[in-house]
Amino acid sequence: QNNSEGRAMSLLHIYKTLDNNSTQVNQLNPEWASYTLGVFLCHSCSGLHRNIAQISKVKSLLLDPWSSSEIEFINSVGNNAAKAKYEKMVPAFYYRPTNKDCQLLRDQWIRAKYERKEFIFVKRVLVTLFLPGYREGFLWKRGRDNGQYLNRKFILSEREGVLKYFNKNDAREPKAIMKMDTINATFQPGKIGTPHGMQITYLKDNSTRNIFVYHEDGKEMVDWFNAIRVARLHYLQVAFPGAPDSEWLPKLTRNYLKEGYMEKTGPKHTEGFKKRWFTMDDRRLMYFKDPLDAYARGEVFIGNKDHSYSVLPILPPSVQGYHWQFGITIVTPDRKFLVTCETEKDREDWIAAFQIVLNRPMLPQEYAVEAYFKHKP
Ligand SMILES: [Zn+2]
Repeated sequence: QNNSEGRAMSLLHIYKTLDNNSTQVNQLNPEWASYTLGVFLCHSCSGLHRNIAQISKVKSLLLDPWSSSEIEFINSVGNNAAKAKYEKMVPAFYYRPTNKDCQLLRDQWIRAKYERKEFIFVKRVLVTLFLPGYREGFLWKRGRDNGQYLNRKFILSEREGVLKYFNKNDAREPKAIMKMDTINATFQPGKIGTPHGMQITYLKDNSTRNIFVYHEDGKEMVDWFNAIRVARLHYLQVAFPGAPDSEWLPKLTRNYLKEGYMEKTGPKHTEGFKKRWFTMDDRRLMYFKDPLDAYARGEVFIGNKDHSYSVLPILPPSVQGYHWQFGITIVTPDRKFLVTCETEKDREDWIAAFQIVLNRPMLPQEYAVEAYFKHKP
C-alpha cells in the first residue's frame, strides 16, 4: 500500500515538473496516464484512450500499481514531448477539440493523433480530406417536413466555392447550394439525437437556413467537418487576398454562444407568451418552433452596447401572460423583445451570452448585416 502510494506521488511529481507548460493538462488536473504513450490524461480522455487499447494502455495514478519502469518511461516522455511528436504536422485549418467539445470530435482527434498518426506526416490528411479541391459522398440528411433521414449526395467544390446536395443521385440540379462565405458547421449530438449529428447553416436572402446530417462512420463525419473548414479557408484567402490566415482560422466554423428554450411574446406585447427554441449564433438571436426546423421564425440582430442595444433582467411591469418567471428585455434600436426563462440560472447564462456580443466592438461587415435587419420588410 505504502509502496504504491509512493509511486503515485512520484508520478504526480513528474507530471508537475514535466508539464508545467501544458495548460490543458494542468486545468484538468489529470488522475490518469497512458503508460504505453507516456502521457497524463483527464478522466474523460482516459475513457477514449480505452477505445485504442492496442496503442494506449491507461492506469489511474492513484488507484493502480505502477512499476518503476513504467514511471521511468513516463518520466522520459510526458505530454509536451508527445505533443511535439504526434502533433508535429497538424494543418492550421484542422479543428483541435477542447474538453468542451462533443465526444465524437475528441474521440476522432485521439484516433487521428495516436492510432492513425495523421499528424506525423502532413500529406495524408490533406489528400484524403479535400484534394484536389473536391469532395463527394453520401450523408444522411433530415427531411424538412417529415423529419425522416434520407441518404443524399453531397459535393464540396473549391472551384465553385459551394457545398451542395442532391435529392436524386442522377439529378442535375442540386436541392440546395450553400456558399462558402456564410456556411457554418457545428456538431449537435444532443439536439439532433445522434452522436455524429452535425448542423450546417447558411444564409439565403440573408436569412439562416439549417440542415441536419450525419454519417454512421465517425471519421467520415469529422472529415466532412474539416473539409468544410479547409474549403472555407480557401474561399476567404481568395476573397480577401493579403489578409493573414491567422485572421480567418478562428472564423472557419463556430459553435453557438447559447441555445435553449425561452418563452416569447409578439411585437405588441399583448399576446400570450409561447415557448420557442432560441439559438444565439454570434450576433444573430434566432427562434424556432422546433429545434430542428429548417429556418427560424424570427431573427434579431444584437449589436454593440454603445449603439442602443442592451439586455435587462426584467420585464416591463404591465406585461402579463408568461408562465416562466425569469424575464429578460432585449432592447434594440427598433423595438423591445420580451422573453422569459425557466430558471434564474438560465437567465444568467442567457444574459452572459448576450453580453459577449454587446461588449464586443462592431466589425465593418457587421454594420452591413445590421442595416439589413433594420430595413427588413
Ligand atoms: Zn482530457
